[in-house]
Amino acid sequence: DARIKRIASTIRVIPNFPKPGIMFQDITTLLLDPTAFRDTVDMFVERYRDKRISVVAGVEARGFIFGPPIALAIGAKFVPLRKPKKLPGEVISEEYTLEYGTDTMEMHVGAVQSNDRALVIDDLIATGGTLCAAINLIERVGAEVVECGCVIELTDLKGREKLGNRPLFVLVKGT
Ligand code: 5GP
Repeated sequence: DARIKRIASTIRVIPNFPKPGIMFQDITTLLLDPTAFRDTVDMFVERYRDKRISVVAGVEARGFIFGPPIALAIGAKFVPLRKPKKLPGEVISEEYTLEYGTDTMEMHVGAVQSNDRALVIDDLIATGGTLCAAINLIERVGAEVVECGCVIELTDLKGREKLGNRPLFVLVKGT
């Protein structure tokens, strides 16, 4: 697909952010190119519009950029998966491990129901820990994760393997 090339070319790599040795994939430059941003959303919409997805769950923070336009276009509800203490209502929490230490992700109780068919959206998969936490939250309430969708996959980190049998769809692969 010719759109992939343009999308990939708009992603900026910033060395040593947020820590020395990390090559940070910066999607804010993708957002500066309305064609690339539109194409990114469209490619997800084309893939999911006929898959009976009832909820798009977006991972804080960059899943909040790509998730909502996809949800609107396919007629699904949008559910934010947030960092601790951000959601005002009753939540369920999932702890997950980072390179150093742990983090927690939260989801409002009642936002996702057991008969929902979910698509999880984030900007990037590295180790897969974040998407696993998102999947666990959704599966804990009895809903089905149909697929995870990311703009970028850092393939060397093998995060895809961590997702087990849950399918992962990505637009751009990097190392
Ligand atoms: P993982 O849990 O798969 O190791 O890390 C993925 C999470 O960290 C995602 O929520 C993603 O937004 C963030 N992340 C890690 N590295 C990068 C990066 O290079 N660029 C961007 N945009 N996000 C990253």
